Amino acid sequence: MRLTPVCRWCGAGPLVPRLSFRTPAPVPDLGGGPFFLHACQACGAWQLNPHPGPEASRRFFASPDRWMVGLDPDQRPVNPLERAEGRLPEYRQYAGTIMALLPETGAVMDVGAGTGLMLSLIDDGRTRLAVEPNAMASRAAAERGLSVIQDWAEALGPPERPLAALIMNQSLDHLPRPDLFLAQAVHWLAPGGLMLLGGLINPACLSARVHGPSFRLFHPFHQVYPTPAAVRRVLAPFGLELVAVWRPYFQTPHGSAGKFLRACGLMALRCLGLAPGGPSGAFPGNTVSYLFRRKVLFHSLKVEAPATSSLSV
Ligand SMILES: [Zn+2]
Repeated sequence: MRLTPVCRWCGAGPLVPRLSFRTPAPVPDLGGGPFFLHACQACGAWQLNPHPGPEASRRFFASPDRWMVGLDPDQRPVNPLERAEGRLPEYRQYAGTIMALLPETGAVMDVGAGTGLMLSLIDDGRTRLAVEPNAMASRAAAERGLSVIQDWAEALGPPERPLAALIMNQSLDHLPRPDLFLAQAVHWLAPGGLMLLGGLINPACLSARVHGPSFRLFHPFHQVYPTPAAVRRVLAPFGLELVAVWRPYFQTPHGSAGKFLRACGLMALRCLGLAPGGPSGAFPGNTVSYLFRRKVLFHSLKVEAPATSSLSV
C-alpha cells in the first residue's frame, strides 16, 4: 500500500481525506483492512489513498475468480458472463454512437475488454483489438472472433497505426495510474479518433452524497472516481472534445422502475437516519460514460478580421 503524493487523475493535488472504510468482507491483498478515499483539491477527483499498488491489482484482476460466480454488492450470486450479456442494451447505445462517428480507417482497440462483448458490437469490418489480462476472459473474447492481446494496459506500446477508437469500458478506474495511461494513450488516436470512457463512478452523484460510506460502488479496486467536471477539465487540454454523455441505469441489469422506487425509499430513510445497514441501491447517475473525439487542433483558431479586397480592375 503506497501513499500517493499527487492526484492520479490530473497529476496535481494536494489530496485531502474524505472517507474511510473497513471493508465489509475481506478483500484479497487488503486483508479486510481499512481503505481511504481522498479528494484532489485541483481537479475534484476522488481516489484510493494509499492505493493497493500494481502487484495487488494484477493479482486481483488476473484471478480466475473474476470470471466465476460471485456475490454482487447486494450479496446475490452473479455469473459474470451472464452479467456481461445483461449489459447489451447499454453497450448497443455506445456502439451505435461510435459507429456513426468513427473515422473511415483505423483499428478499434478495447483495453480491459473482458469477454469482448462491447467491442464485438463494432462490426463494420475493421480490425478489432481486445486487450484483456484475464485468461478466461481473453478466451471468451477470442471466441467472438476478436484479435486478442492478453496483457495489461500499462504494458502496451503505441500501435503501429493511429487508432480510430480506443474503448475503456469499466476499466480505466481499475488502473493504479490512470493519469499516466491516458497521457500516453491519447497520442495513439488518429485526428478525429474516438475515446470511450465507460462506467466511471461519480462520487458527487446524489446517491453517493446521501449514502456516504454505504455507497455501493466504493471499493478498493475501484481506484479513481473522477467527477464529471474532473473528467472534462483533465481531458480537454489533451485536445479531446466531449461528444456524448450517458448515465446508464434503466438499460442495465441494475435498473428498473421497481428498483428505482426502492432506492428512492432507501435514500429517504437514510436522510432520516432510519436506513438499515448494507450498501445503497443502484441509482441513475452513479456511473457516467463519456465519448470524446480527438480534435485536429488542440486550441481554437482566433477569428481573423475579414481581409479587405486588394483586387482592382
Ligand atoms: Zn486531481
